[in-house]
Amino acid sequence: MSAVQQSRINVMTPWLGVEEVAAVTAVIESGWVAQGPRVAEFERSFARAMQATDAVAVSNCTTALHLALLVAGVRAGDDVVVPSFSFIATANAPTYVGARPVFAEVDALTGNVTATSVAAAITPWTRAVIVVDQGGVPVDLDAVRAVCDPRDIVVIEDAACGAGSTYKGRPVGAGAQLAAWSFHPRKILTTGEGGMLTTSNPEWAARARMLREHAMSVSAADRHAALVSPPEEYSEIGFNFRMTDLQAAIGIVQLAKLPEAVARRRAIAARYRRELGGVPGLRLVDDPPWGTSNFQSLWVEVADPYPLDREQVLLALAEAGISARRGIMSAHRQSPYRHLAGHGTLPVTERLTDRTLILPLFHTMTAADQDRVIAVLRGPVGG
Ligand SMILES: *Cc1c(COP(=O)(O)O)cnc(C)c1O
Repeated sequence: MSAVQQSRINVMTPWLGVEEVAAVTAVIESGWVAQGPRVAEFERSFARAMQATDAVAVSNCTTALHLALLVAGVRAGDDVVVPSFSFIATANAPTYVGARPVFAEVDALTGNVTATSVAAAITPWTRAVIVVDQGGVPVDLDAVRAVCDPRDIVVIEDAACGAGSTYKGRPVGAGAQLAAWSFHPRKILTTGEGGMLTTSNPEWAARARMLREHAMSVSAADRHAALVSPPEEYSEIGFNFRMTDLQAAIGIVQLAKLPEAVARRRAIAARYRRELGGVPGLRLVDDPPWGTSNFQSLWVEVADPYPLDREQVLLALAEAGISARRGIMSAHRQSPYRHLAGHGTLPVTERLTDRTLILPLFHTMTAADQDRVIAVLRGPVGG
């Protein structure tokens, strides 16, 4: 036991600073804090940065996925192919519209679904597929679309983790009909809570814009801007999925910092790879041939001949004051979805869930912080 109290290292710490404080202060001073001009500006900047035709800001990525399914026309009785190997929101979204998630297996190297695994999960009732850029690793979207487009199956990209990742030289999501993004603090770009729906279809964007605001024919911002506002109408049952201008102001600053944030994460990931890549039994997730990851989650698979299992590694890290995380969950092992996939039917998904952990990686991580993590992982192999 060290006599020196070592500070705790978390898996993630958001990179927020004085610029975000100034941006929020300006919004408060403006007197307009709900969805308004800052949200509109954030949408324009985000669409430009992600090379999307339209961007619709929402309350989080889960509501973005929900709206994506609605505008794509997914209804009760439809099937939606999703990876089980994802945060549970990916599987929950289809259930919100009465559809059934059908789980596709993932590739062991990327943690993402493939054209083959998606094709195997398609049923006569499949209306949509949700692919995920898991942990920031770009999915091979074109290959999945080659399977789905001829069958009129809409491919929705869950890019919750993908801001700053690239696919074939463009931002992930740029080639998607619909992509959903998260700005939760666990992600690389944060607004506290928040999300975005990007789409190449202007009609879908218009409908999503309306549905996020109670399906009101006149937006609240337009209503307030007019002295005598036009009467509003409600053409269908909508939702309150709005983002606030307070959040959007933070998002504008965060988006401008994104290239630097990605460069820093990739540099830290590269150092982990140099220091740990040669340790027998440890496998670090890497860029796929078709793109680059933002390393939103740098996961490592722990297997033979590494002397510890994943749980023992987590304990060893905890003893050193380091809070790593278990890898991505398997949705089909949770009670709402257990009946949908038989035991052992998704062996790669289960193996990755059971054997991976996510290493601490954040913008302000120092070399000394990283040395502490590396020392714990190298310890059992004498290095
Ligand atoms: C974080 C995450 C979500 C949910 O995002 P929220 O903004 O918290 O709703 C959905 N899908 C994936 C893959 C995620 O990592």
